[in-house]
Amino acid sequence: MSVATDLLQLIPDERRVGDGESLLDQHSADLTYHAPRRPDAVVFPETTEEVAAVLRYANEAGVPVVPFGAGTSLEGHVIPVAGGISLDLTRMNRILEVSVPDLAATVQAGVTRGQLKDAAGPHGLDFPVDPGADATLGGMAATNASGTTTVRYGGMRAHVLALEVVLADGRVIRTGSRAVKTSAGYNLTHLFVGSEGTLGVITELTLRLHPIPESIVVARAAFPSIEAACRAAAALVGAGVPVTRCELLDSRTIAALNAFKGTEFPEAPYLFVELGGSASGVPGDLATTLELLEEEGATAIEAESDPTERARIWEARHQSLFAALALSPGSKHMSTDVAVPVSQLAASMEHARSLLGELGLNGGIVGHAGDGNYHVAFLFDPDDADSLARAKALNAALVEDALARGGTSTGEHGVGIGKIEYLQREHGDLIPLMRGIKGVLDPNGILNPGKVLPPL
Ligand SMILES: Cc1cc2nc3c(=O)[nH]c(=O)nc-3n(C[C@H](O)[C@H](O)[C@H](O)COP(=O)(O)OP(=O)(O)OC[C@H]3O[C@@H](n4cnc5c(N)ncnc54)[C@H](O)[C@@H]3O)c2cc1C
Repeated sequence: MSVATDLLQLIPDERRVGDGESLLDQHSADLTYHAPRRPDAVVFPETTEEVAAVLRYANEAGVPVVPFGAGTSLEGHVIPVAGGISLDLTRMNRILEVSVPDLAATVQAGVTRGQLKDAAGPHGLDFPVDPGADATLGGMAATNASGTTTVRYGGMRAHVLALEVVLADGRVIRTGSRAVKTSAGYNLTHLFVGSEGTLGVITELTLRLHPIPESIVVARAAFPSIEAACRAAAALVGAGVPVTRCELLDSRTIAALNAFKGTEFPEAPYLFVELGGSASGVPGDLATTLELLEEEGATAIEAESDPTERARIWEARHQSLFAALALSPGSKHMSTDVAVPVSQLAASMEHARSLLGELGLNGGIVGHAGDGNYHVAFLFDPDDADSLARAKALNAALVEDALARGGTSTGEHGVGIGKIEYLQREHGDLIPLMRGIKGVLDPNGILNPGKVLPPL
C-alpha cells in the first residue's frame, strides 16, 4: 500500500490527502538553491487529533514527517530529503481567541502573521514579528523567526507564551501558560521554538500582542558609506530613541530596487528608520533622529507619517530579495544570515562587500542594523560548479568572520540543511547534547530527518 492510501484510512477525505505530481512538487522545494525532493504524500490535517493520528502511524511505520507551514523558509527546511509525508498545516488556520485585557492571542499553527494582524488591529493591537513573508505562526515559531521589528519587540521567542505540541509518538502536550512570566521548571516552550519541526509538531500557540503606537513615522536617509549608516543606527539605539525598525540597504540593493520598483533613490547606502510612540513624544524623537542621522553625513532625508506611504516604504524594503532575483532571471538565490555584536556590524558588512568583489559575485547587503544581523543576498548559477563553489566560499567566509567577532552563523533563518556545517563549526561541542534531546523526543528519528543536526 502507498503512504497516501494509509493516510486515507486515518483521514478519509481525498481533498486532504494526495500524491498527485503537482501537489508533491509544491511540497518538494523552497525559493532557494537547495535541490528539490518530492515527499511520498501530502496531508492537510484540520485538528490536533488528526496530526496525532498521522504521527502515531508514521512513528510505527518509520515514515518521515516534514511539517510544512507557508514554505517560505530559506535553508531547505521543508524539503523532504528522505521522502515520507509532508504535513501541511495551512488548514489549521483558526484564530481561537484574541484577549484584549491579556494582550494575547491563541491561534492554530497554520494562521499566518497577516491573518493575526488583521484580527488584532480592530482592537488597537498588533503582532509585530515581521519576517517579510506572510509566514504561518507555527512555521515562524519553528524557525524562531524575527525581522524588521526585532530591535524594539524581540523575535518569536519573546512572543510565544504557550504551545500545544504533538510529539513524534502522537502524544499531545501543552507547555507554558497564559501568564506573561513563569519559573515553572525547564522551559520546554522555548525548546520547541527554533526546533524546525525536528522535535514535535506545533498545533496551537498563545502569543503576545502589543498596543499599536498612537503615532508612527518613518524616516529614510542616504549615507556616504555603510560604516556611517551603521554608526547612525548604533547611535539611535544607544540614545534610547523608540526605534521600531532600523533597516540598512546597501547601494547595490538600492540600485536593484530602483530597477525593480521604478523608485529613484540615490544609489547610496540607506537607512530606513521607523519610530513609534505617543503623539506628543514622536515629534521630539523624530527631531533627535534627524539630528543623529545628519551627524553621520545623511542626505536625501525624508520623513513620512501617512499610513499608505509608510506601507509602501516597507513593501519596497521587503521586495529587496525579489528585486535582486529580477537582476538575473534563471539564477538561484543564496542568502547569508550572520549576526554580530552591534559594535562589529560596520566592519563585518565592509568585509562582506570586499568578499563579494574578490569572489566575483553579484549581490546586495541588507541589514537589520539595530540587531547586528545582516543578509548578503547573491545570485549564482546552481548548475555551474564554479559559481556554486564561490557562493559557498562566501557563505563560509562570512560565518568565520562573524564567529571571530563573537557572533552567530544564523540570526533568524535557522539551520535547515544549508547551515548544518556551520552549526557544527559554531556549536560542535553541544551537538551531542542536542542529539540527546532529539533522541528523547523523537527516538525513531521520523521528524524532519536530515535537518539541523549533522548526520552521525
Ligand atoms: C522574501 C523573504 C524574506 C524573509 N525574511 C525573513 C526575515 O527577515 N526574518 C526571518 O526570520 N525569516 C525570513 N524569511 C524566512 C521565512 O519567512 C521564515 O523562516 C518563516 O518563519 C518560515 O515560516 P513558514 O510558515 O513559511 O514555515 P515553513 O517554511 O513552511 O517551515 C519552516 C520550518 O518550520 C517547520 N514547521 C513549519 N510549521 C511547523 C509546525 N506547525 N510545527 C513544527 N514545525 C513546523 C518546517 O518543518 C520547517 O522546518 C524570509 C523569507 C522570504 C521568502
